[in-house]
Amino acid sequence: MKKLFLLSIVCMVSVGQMYSARPAKGRRVLRKRIVPQEEEMVQQEVNAQAVEYVDESMDKNAKIYLAGHNGLVGSAIMRELARQGFTNIITKGHTELDLRNQQAVDSFFATEQPEYLFLAAAKVGGIIANRDYPAQFIYDNLMIEANVIHAAYKHGVKKLLFLGSSCIYPRMCAQPIKEEYLLTSALEETNKPYAVAKIAGLTMCQAYNRQYGTNFISCMPTNLYGPHDNFNLETSHVLPALVRKFYEAKKQNKPHVVVWGSGTPYREFLYVDDLANAVIFLMEHYHGDEVMNVGTGTDVTIGDLAHTIKQAVGYTGEIVFDRTKPDGTPRKLLDMSKMHSIGWHAATSLQEGIGKTLDWCKQNSVFEN
Ligand code: NDP
Repeated sequence: MKKLFLLSIVCMVSVGQMYSARPAKGRRVLRKRIVPQEEEMVQQEVNAQAVEYVDESMDKNAKIYLAGHNGLVGSAIMRELARQGFTNIITKGHTELDLRNQQAVDSFFATEQPEYLFLAAAKVGGIIANRDYPAQFIYDNLMIEANVIHAAYKHGVKKLLFLGSSCIYPRMCAQPIKEEYLLTSALEETNKPYAVAKIAGLTMCQAYNRQYGTNFISCMPTNLYGPHDNFNLETSHVLPALVRKFYEAKKQNKPHVVVWGSGTPYREFLYVDDLANAVIFLMEHYHGDEVMNVGTGTDVTIGDLAHTIKQAVGYTGEIVFDRTKPDGTPRKLLDMSKMHSIGWHAATSLQEGIGKTLDWCKQNSVFEN
């Protein structure tokens, strides 16, 4: 009981510090306001899942290959690399370099000789795309990962970061989801081919580290949103779909907006620029085989999410929950202890992130198409 109580203190301290300014390098959180013998126990709990903060900072002119730079994640990493002053970033569009083509990938690496690599290229999609194109999801992702990770080893890339996803954790996971729950029980059937391919990618990173001594790391982002997201109502995720629905309802003076399900399930959302900040932080300050969760460490109900978006858009009609539609799993939240222990916290609140996303949509006439 005492252990549980202490762990909850650990969690409360961590959550309380979220959305604060980014902490100083290597700052250890979790140690305040606890008496000495309790501190020892807390420290044991923290050590049980401790990861080490390292300094592997990249030179500002290091040659960095960003694979998938046009996507939601890739474009955010591009913005963040530029904001942090990195000047030598190589990119190639899908049509110029198909990463499923082993020969093309190998000769690209032989010519360019990148020092660092962010692998944000992948075949990604929602539940319907995963249902209709399972072969493409497993083939494309396995080929991209095998070709890129092997070429990175062969051509001496100093460090590589691979993007996994929170949706590859087992279907029935204890909450919040810790990194060690991966591969502990059955996967979600609807995206199994995608999940198997992603698990192969992060296992490749670990295997290459073990056999060849490479420095390849992986992270597990939660649900992301922001500029360059998919706002197509047929294929988009819940947050961008609601942004579009409320925007259009306001414009067309509709009396209500229908939200699928009861509105009660809890979900976690991370603004994609925070993820970009996290992956550069990991590249520079994490070294190891363990995957690293990246989220906010907090969640909201779909109902609260709908109200936040309604407010951001300035819509004054009603929200109607369509309870005939499925709710899905009641809660999905990542455990952020490891990232917090090396000093990284998300910086953008949900309100702020939704506001920025909406501004970007308006500036780019996203809803006119
Ligand atoms: P997007 O679909 O927005 O972007 C994927 C990128 O990969 C695109 O630039 C695409 O190029 C490129 N790509 C796809 N196939 C190929 C190929 N054969 N050769 C070269 N390039 C290719 O995906 P996201 O940015 O959302 O996802 C990026 C990563 O982040 C993925 O690994 C995903 O699993 C992970 N992730 C995403 C989450 C999310 O909520 N979106 C959540 C958790 C993890 P093009 O546009 O030209 O086709």
